[in-house]
Amino acid sequence: MDRSSDADQSSVHDVTQLKRRLGRLSLWLGAAATVVVGWGFWAMGTTGGQASGLSPLILMSVGLLLIGMIGTVIWYGLWRCPECRRYLGNILNPRFCHRCGVKLSP
Ligand SMILES: [Zn+2]
Repeated sequence: MDRSSDADQSSVHDVTQLKRRLGRLSLWLGAAATVVVGWGFWAMGTTGGQASGLSPLILMSVGLLLIGMIGTVIWYGLWRCPECRRYLGNILNPRFCHRCGVKLSP
């Protein structure tokens, strides 16, 4: 951690906590996706792809789509500037908020 005294510390917002939260979210979604894919292949192997109702492949696709949608919604909800609450964009390490210009900790 480089603590430069010339930077205005009071206006720097720490997004480390936020990034940690999003990292954990990605892990959970990844785990959920793995379970869905694992189940899909297991179900396809068991039924031989000839399920009576919906095919495991369709259910698996719907499951993955849902996980992706939930992830996107939560990401958009959390990944926001602490100052102006605007979405920070698809940048992992923003130095500044591109809307209000507030400094964000790396
Ligand atoms: Zn902002």
